[in-house]
Order: sequence, then structure tokens, then C-alpha cells
Amino acid sequence: MIRALLKRRRRQILIDVSTQKDFFFADGKACIRNHRRVLSNLRRVLAWARLKHIPVISTCDSYPDNNGKSAVNYCLDGTTGQEKIHYTLLENRISFPADGNTDLPRDMLKKYRQVILHKRCIDPFSEPRIDRLLTEINATNFLLVGASAEDTVQAMALGLIQRGKNVTIITDAIGSLNKKQSELAIRKMKAKGAKLIESKKLAGTTHLKKVGACKCQTCSKQPDLAQAPVATAAAHN
Ligand SMILES: [Zn+2]
Repeated sequence: MIRALLKRRRRQILIDVSTQKDFFFADGKACIRNHRRVLSNLRRVLAWARLKHIPVISTCDSYPDNNGKSAVNYCLDGTTGQEKIHYTLLENRISFPADGNTDLPRDMLKKYRQVILHKRCIDPFSEPRIDRLLTEINATNFLLVGASAEDTVQAMALGLIQRGKNVTIITDAIGSLNKKQSELAIRKMKAKGAKLIESKKLAGTTHLKKVGACKCQTCSKQPDLAQAPVATAAAHN
């Protein structure tokens, strides 16, 4: 009993926000800045979660096309851009549509390693099922990755904090479309109580030479210079 309580007290949950092709791939409809670097950090964080058996809750944008009259041009239902990046998908997962319901199976996080919830709006808490799950779930710490810093990630972080949760933003595994707005968003999340860390603190540095998801020229190249000193420093430890 006590062991179970202690175990629960230490629980971390990875919140994976909109890690979809339209946001993270060079040919996506709303590709983030520095997508190569963010993709490679994201991959390491997901590998770490897999290894450490950290439950993953993923929110996924999904907008109806409405015969070409959708309010947004990205993450439209049935398009490749709406799909999640393959290494953000765990084998044992369950997925829910954005249908306005709040039903959730009993013991869901015991049965599944990853819960994917779709949304049709920026703020994930506007979706009743996401609101219910994130309000009811207990964890010591909610770790956030994904995109974009200035909209869904910010809404996610602030919503969790409002519900009394501890939030940690893995800053280098967060993508953004607008530099100025994302800096403001990060500052606001921090001011409201979010902790900021870099992915290497959790997942170490990488020996991976390629990003392995996006097929653009930048992603197919060897590691960029910005990452080289980090890898060298780690090798000497
Ligand atoms: Zn790329």
C-alpha cells in the first residue's frame, strides 16, 4: 500500500502536443522554426519516455475540411499533414476522436502506454474529454513537448497550472512559428509557475546522425554545428 502511494507520488507524464507532420516537416502547412533541431530533440524525449515507461498523453489537431472552407489550412482530416510523426506513436495506444464526449475507459493508463486525444480548437481544454482527463489525472509532474509554444503549448501549460498541476516545459523540444510571440509565451508560462528544462537533462545527448522523419535537405544532413559542442562535451564526461 505504502509502496503504491510512493510510486504514485513520483509519477511523471509526458504531454505531447500536436507533434504532427504539418507542424514539424519542412513541407508541412505550418512548419515551425528550426524544425530539424526540435525534431531531433523530440525524438530523444520520446525514446526516453519509452525506455522509462513514462505514460504519454498526446493531443492531436484534427479539422474538418468543410469543402475547402475550413478556418485553418493545416491538420485537415484525412491529409498526410494531419498524421503524427511516426516516432511519437507508441505501440500500445488508444485514440479518441474530438466528438464532445467525456467517456474514458476505466484504468486506461494502466492498460495503455499512450492516449491520443483529438481536438478541433487551439485550447485543448475546450475539448470536454481532454479537459476531463487532464483535470482528473494525478501526477507529480507534467512534462510538455510539441508545438506551438505561442498557442496550444501555452494553453496546455496554463490550463494545467490552473488545475493545480506541476508543469515542466522541455524548451528545446517545443516548436514555434513566431519567435517574439513564443518568447513571450515561454516567459508567461514561467511566470505562472512552469519549470523550464532542456531535453538533455532528461534524455542525454544523441549519437543519432540524422533526424529520420522529415525528408528535407536540412534534415538529411549531418548534425548541425550548434549540437556538435554538446556531443563533444558529453563524450569527455
Ligand atoms: Zn526537415
